[in-house]
Amino acid sequence: MEKKNIDWANLGFGYVRTDKRFVSNYKDGAWDDGVLTEDDTVTISECAGVLQYAQTVFEGLKAYTTEDGHIVCFRPDLNASRLADSCRRLEMPVFPEDKFVEAVVQTVQANEGYVPPYGSGATLYIRPYMFGSNPVIGVKPANEYQFRIFTTPVGPYFKGGARPITIRVSDFDRAAPHGTGHIKAGLNYAMSLHAIVDAHNKGFDENMYLDAATRTKVEETGGANFLFVTKDNKVVTPKSDSILPSITRRSLMIVAKEYLGLEVEEREVYLEELGDFAECGLCGTAAVISPVGKIVDHGKEICFASGMEQMGPITQKLYDTLTGIQMGRLEAPEGWIKVIR
Ligand SMILES: *Cc1c(COP(=O)(O)O)cnc(C)c1O
Repeated sequence: MEKKNIDWANLGFGYVRTDKRFVSNYKDGAWDDGVLTEDDTVTISECAGVLQYAQTVFEGLKAYTTEDGHIVCFRPDLNASRLADSCRRLEMPVFPEDKFVEAVVQTVQANEGYVPPYGSGATLYIRPYMFGSNPVIGVKPANEYQFRIFTTPVGPYFKGGARPITIRVSDFDRAAPHGTGHIKAGLNYAMSLHAIVDAHNKGFDENMYLDAATRTKVEETGGANFLFVTKDNKVVTPKSDSILPSITRRSLMIVAKEYLGLEVEEREVYLEELGDFAECGLCGTAAVISPVGKIVDHGKEICFASGMEQMGPITQKLYDTLTGIQMGRLEAPEGWIKVIR
């Protein structure tokens, strides 16, 4: 398929309509086969479960072109199983995990012209999601659902180098203990919108959320997990049942241990120990790692040794190694790269 005429390097992170999307409907207790369609609109009842009680979950992953010209995506099986976990928590039917991966492959193939070329820094973002589609007015799970996957090309996350960001410790909570923080549900984002708008208005890039029960431990930001590096190069990530299990973070911990020979630890991380770390980064599909230069806790500044100009040295190695694996410059662990074309 011929590449679309797009200025890849100057694409932002916004929705661009592509040719085809995957749609499957769940009715009478079963999923249909699903189809690829050109119709980019959704028509549902005014009383659909998703519109009344926010019964919706989603995923996010990317397809890109490797150094040797293949189109691939990264660990889509983990997106499939995480979506299944999200569905179970919101009483939604699971979309079969093998069919999920197949549907991702089909959708990317159908939009191949939108997969940015190797070296452009741009990628094709893939958004699978599911929602309750039939009328629900008494509070209960819907009994009909739609599962969709659309794609949209997105530009390089860091234009002109990764600039470390400044985050604040938020007075708002993201997730309750035993709540829904560990699943990828739109409802977790709806309640974070006020906090992020407020953070931006006050000059911060992101919110650091603490554990809601004690407000002493680090959880995550609105859409990315934390990694910290100690002064003796140990990679530490917060452990909590209310953190969304980032696939990027889980992969980086493996990269740290297996590729870089670093010690890694998943443990509770206390707000009061943050000053002891040398580096801090946020991980997620969008950026892989965004370096954090400064954390502001109600006026008290915690500045990392890596500064506000560049990524810390360990963060940089983690970033280079994982992106090297993704782009086919380094050998990937078995099963990490799904070849699409
Ligand atoms: C999606 C998401 C992440 C990042 O997960 P990846 O699988 O690495 O993209 C982190 N935190 C939250 C709250 C998320 O929704």
